[in-house]
Amino acid sequence: MDRNRLIQTLMDEPQKQWDIIVIGGGATGLGIALDAVTRGYKTLLLEQSDFAKGTSSRSTKLVHGGVRYMAQGDILLVIEALHERGLMLKNAPHLTANQEFVIPVYTWWDVFLYTAGLKFYDLLAGRLSMGKSYFINKRKAVSRLPLIRSEGLKGGIVYHDGQFDDSRMAVALAIANVEKGGTVLNYFRVGSLLKSEKGKITGVLANDLKSGNDYKIKGKLVINATGVFADEIHRMDDPESKPTIRPSQGVHVVLDNSFLQSGSAVMIPKTDDGRVLFAIPWYGKVVVGTTDTPLDTVSLEPRALDQEIDFILNTAGRYLTRPPKREDVNCIFAGLRPLAANPDNPEATKEVSRRHKITLSRSGLLSIIGGKWTSYRRMAEETIDKAVKTGIIEKRKCVTRDFSFYSNGNPPVSERLKIYGNHAFEIEKLSREHPELGEPVHKKFPYTKAEIVWICRNEMPLTLEDMLARRTRALFLDARASAEAAPVVADLMAKELGFSKSWQENEISKYNDLIKIYI
Ligand SMILES: Cc1cc2nc3c(=O)[nH]c(=O)nc-3n(C[C@H](O)[C@H](O)[C@H](O)COP(=O)(O)OP(=O)(O)OC[C@H]3O[C@@H](n4cnc5c(N)ncnc54)[C@H](O)[C@@H]3O)c2cc1C
Repeated sequence: MDRNRLIQTLMDEPQKQWDIIVIGGGATGLGIALDAVTRGYKTLLLEQSDFAKGTSSRSTKLVHGGVRYMAQGDILLVIEALHERGLMLKNAPHLTANQEFVIPVYTWWDVFLYTAGLKFYDLLAGRLSMGKSYFINKRKAVSRLPLIRSEGLKGGIVYHDGQFDDSRMAVALAIANVEKGGTVLNYFRVGSLLKSEKGKITGVLANDLKSGNDYKIKGKLVINATGVFADEIHRMDDPESKPTIRPSQGVHVVLDNSFLQSGSAVMIPKTDDGRVLFAIPWYGKVVVGTTDTPLDTVSLEPRALDQEIDFILNTAGRYLTRPPKREDVNCIFAGLRPLAANPDNPEATKEVSRRHKITLSRSGLLSIIGGKWTSYRRMAEETIDKAVKTGIIEKRKCVTRDFSFYSNGNPPVSERLKIYGNHAFEIEKLSREHPELGEPVHKKFPYTKAEIVWICRNEMPLTLEDMLARRTRALFLDARASAEAAPVVADLMAKELGFSKSWQENEISKYNDLIKIYI
């Protein structure tokens, strides 16, 4: 992904008209762009920050049907998501994994309830099931989860779901878009919509935040896939438009694996205040969350509230023999769910569903809001199908069901480098040819200098944060250690990307400010 070359595609033909312009480079927008480009449409995606800077790097990292939505009776949503779970595990095996979960149960009623519930979950997954659920007695539950509170424990229910690396999946989608001939640009903000005299949308006015240049870009169809920011785009279309998003914040804390000491994840289906809490092993750490706090404002860098952090730590502490404290936390991250609200009654939380909604405005703006990472492919297919129905673009068949992100043609020697997909061997080659690049960037992370160099050359990172938060997951795994690694990483980036010493100093200083939100 060469950003300058991709910008050139905007300038080559000033009169060029894209078939589809997608605003937003999270799971939804990247999925839509890939669906469109693989159907053969001329497709452009514009992201105002980095790919997955918003909600799409801040999920629980589950590829799941959603046991909770089943309990809420949204069976159709669960069936759809379980089907998509199967496709995502098949198509992106290098970024997803089959994860075992254990629900610790403390009453015989819960044993009955959750065993029956998860059998039903297995049934809904059908032939895409990832493994049967079953009850285990107390001895086996404790052997799987040695640090779970054992007083009163009756046993555990074991079940399987998918797990993934959200921002690396977003990068894989961006790369696939470019490989298929699409243009995806980060740090390109859409500031307004272009309209014809008849009031129909004819394109966007976008600003390259790196050069400051403005671009008037023409497109047959503009798709708003901006997550919690969707209403800003709606207001560009119609200043009187009613709110359609009900943002809800979810917080996670990341702990050392010494708090769980297990490869199995824990799911607490009903905490004291009726929420679900997960503790999931991830890259050698444990991700614990989440919360569900309605908010009135949206931001690209949401901040966890003290009561959300306390809730997670206190609840985890009730189930673990070694209760985690605030000073044990490696990272705290918050994300905003772009839940679809009822425009006539945006405050009605009962209306807020995890299901996505696709709408078409009178001027031709196609918007998609809500949904889940797991369902990104299906959401994209439905959006482009809807676009076809407008008659603006001709009908072509969706091909993403079998679109593989990984051919396994050059399997890496190191299992860890598998996350780089078909290109992992190039990183190994770099380390072999330049042994000094084989060193890790910090003793607490496995990431080597060769990875940083390779990412600079291939994955379009523009800032230190892009590298430490979303290309590698250093920020999310250990915010303080990532700041210690920052000077080494900034130096490598500056050399590779041709940035100055003052760029390095500025990036390190910005990064040190940023991590305060994460600790
Ligand atoms: C706490 C939490 C946990 C979750 N866990 C899971 C999970 O485990 N599994 C699962 O399947 N789903 C999960 N989800 C849901 C999932 O993460 C989201 O549904 C998904 O990431 C939303 O993606 P998006 O692309 O719609 O939004 P975003 O990722 O927010 O992307 C929207 C993008 O639009 C860009 N944008 C906005 N305005 C403009 C503009 N004017 N010009 C250009 N770009 C613009 C933004 O910068 C942003 O990057 C979770 C969500 C939360 C909040």
